[in-house]
Amino acid sequence: MLGESPSRMLARANIEATPLRLAVVGVMAGAGRALPAGDILALVRRLRPANRVTLYRILDLLVEKGLARRHSAGDRAQRYCLEPGTAGAPHGHAYCVRCGAMQCLPQGAGLADVAALGAGLAMDVLSVEVRIDGVCAACRGHESRPAGAAVDAAPGNS
Ligand SMILES: [Zn+2]
Ligand SMILES: [Zn+2]
Repeated sequence: MLGESPSRMLARANIEATPLRLAVVGVMAGAGRALPAGDILALVRRLRPANRVTLYRILDLLVEKGLARRHSAGDRAQRYCLEPGTAGAPHGHAYCVRCGAMQCLPQGAGLADVAALGAGLAMDVLSVEVRIDGVCAACRGHESRPAGAAVDAAPGNS
């Protein structure tokens, strides 16, 4: 995922490079995980002024041109991440149901063999989305702390 500059990625996808598009792709490339549009907007705004409508338009363009993919999770926010140019080998995601973080998994992690799926199903597979739902390490850490005290202290519930 590293090693290709945002301008090269845009060129590869036949998207005209504008400063804002470069910023968006740069932010997404640096994230290493799928981000909700609101998070991307916040990160882009550290670099340059941007409004939400323009950002969504850019994200739509990236998705349409195959440079990015849109991922749905259990909640309402769509996540976006870069799909670095290998249409046959999409990467999967590990989604934390607690904090909503959606980590990009390495490509070729053996989650889905698109070619084999196509042969087994009577259809031409256009895309595969693999999402592993779970509780991330950070959230698991919070959980292992004893949570009983605060609950026991609540009065009037016995
Ligand atoms: Zn989490
Ligand atoms: Zn991803």
